[in-house]
Parts: sequence; structure tokens; C-alpha cells
Amino acid sequence: MKIVEKYNGKALYSDKYNYIFRKTDGFFMRWGETEHDDPQYSPYGPEILDLEISSGKCNGRCKFCYKDNGEDIDTHHMTFEEFKTIFHKIPKALTQIAFGICDIDSNPDFFKMMKYAYQNGIIPNYTCNGLDVTPAIARETARLCGAVAVSLVNNKKSYEAISKFLEAGMKQVNMHYMLSEETYDRAFEVVDEIAEDLSPKGFNAIVFLQYKPKGKNADAFDNVFKKPKKATKKDIEMLGDWRIEESRVKGKTLIYSNGDNAIPWMLFGLIEDKFNAERIHMG
Ligand code: SF4
Repeated sequence: MKIVEKYNGKALYSDKYNYIFRKTDGFFMRWGETEHDDPQYSPYGPEILDLEISSGKCNGRCKFCYKDNGEDIDTHHMTFEEFKTIFHKIPKALTQIAFGICDIDSNPDFFKMMKYAYQNGIIPNYTCNGLDVTPAIARETARLCGAVAVSLVNNKKSYEAISKFLEAGMKQVNMHYMLSEETYDRAFEVVDEIAEDLSPKGFNAIVFLQYKPKGKNADAFDNVFKKPKKATKKDIEMLGDWRIEESRVKGKTLIYSNGDNAIPWMLFGLIEDKFNAERIHMG
């Protein structure tokens, strides 16, 4: 196995597993013994690390938080030293880290960790609730990160946060939306709002995450696929294609995942299959 790394990219070559990763725009291409093979897993360690660095208080206070974060509850933050220990234990095949956080300022070492990853050739990404994004945070994120996602927690602030990231020059700004039977109708309004307000500014993708009955208020929401009162998977696929065409967002707006613990992996499997891998992973 051979890894070739430059400031703008990384490649791994071996007999049965190979990849090329472009750090500048997140392009990732994987192949196996021949270019027609797509290996099931990397035998040399993860391509992407999903890393929770905080748990506890989160001003998002989502009723459906699968991480059980929210109100003023006990918090735990990974320290910078702990982060460095983990970072150096991950095999060199790693390309990106998807940081799991609460609020952006919850973990005092968050940006220090991202900077450390960046300086050591690993691209950081994160998902936030959008409530505390300032222009300075947006600029620093644009400097360090490949991608950022904002969960739709507060209509006004989430949209403003996305605009701030776009104005700071980020190319891969996504929105995460929890899709359940109860939130299903609003999802279509969101697609229209994005197509009208954010797509012209360079917004990348809305990611529909299926409801996970875990953590806070587990089972308070209904999975649109489990109880298809409103939608079957086929319906959503059709609506997705239709909306994409109607909104002229060229196939970048509607994506959904299978919604279990493997969300990030499944999700990006789908994105890679459907949109030819021009994405950076989001956790
Ligand atoms: S923003 Fe994320 S971490 Fe915070 S409560 Fe909502 S789902 Fe949980």
C-alpha cells in the first residue's frame, strides 16, 4: 500500500483498494482491483472519522435529538490532548473528520482541533445548529473546513447562518432537515425556500435525515418510511426528482438517508452513487 499526499490532495494505491481525494473541493473517487470495483470497506482504516467532541447542553433543544443533547444538562467536552491522542491513532488512510458538536462555542478547543487536523493534512467538517454563527466564525470555517451543514432548528437563524457561510466563500454549505411524518409537509416548503433564496447564492444541498427513534423523546415522531401514511420511499424519490426539476437546482437539493446509526456512511453512499461523488462527507 502506498499513500501519496500533497497540499491539495491525497491518494492511496494498493492491489484491491484505491482512492483519490481532492482536498480543495472534496472530490473522492474509490476503486478496487479494476476501475469497475467499489470495495465494501477500506482495509487500511477509515476514510472519514465521525468524532463527537461535546455532549450535553445545546441551544438547539431539538425535541428529536438522537444524541440526547439539549437543555441545561451535564456536559462533557473532549480535551485537546484527548483529541490529539485519538487523531494520531487513526491510520493514515484518513481523509476527513466530521466533528459532532453542540453549540459552536460549547467546546473551547473546537477550532483548535480543526486547525490541528487541517495542518496535519486532514480536512475538517461539521454540522451546527446555526444559532451562534458570526461572520468571524463563518470566515474561519471557510478557511479550515471542506464543508459545513446547518440543521434547520430556527427558520430565521438557520437561513441567516447559511447565508453567512456562503458570504464567507464556502463552496459546500448544506442544510440538514429531520424528515418524519410530522415534519413532512414543511420539508417541501423548505425545498422551495432554498431554491428561491439560497440556491442562487451557491447553496450546495439539503440533506433529509430520516427520524431516528433514539435519545430524546424516542418514538415521539413517526418515520415516513416505516408508517407510510404520507409517503413511501418511491413517493419521496419521485417528489424529489420533480422538485429538483421544478426548482431548477440541477439535482443537488434533495437527498435522504436510511436513517439508522450508519447515516453518514449510507448518506454519502447515496450521494456518491447519485451525484458522482462530488461531495465532502457530513456527519
Ligand atoms: S442542534 Fe443537533 S445536537 Fe443540538 S439538540 Fe438539535 S439535534 Fe441535538
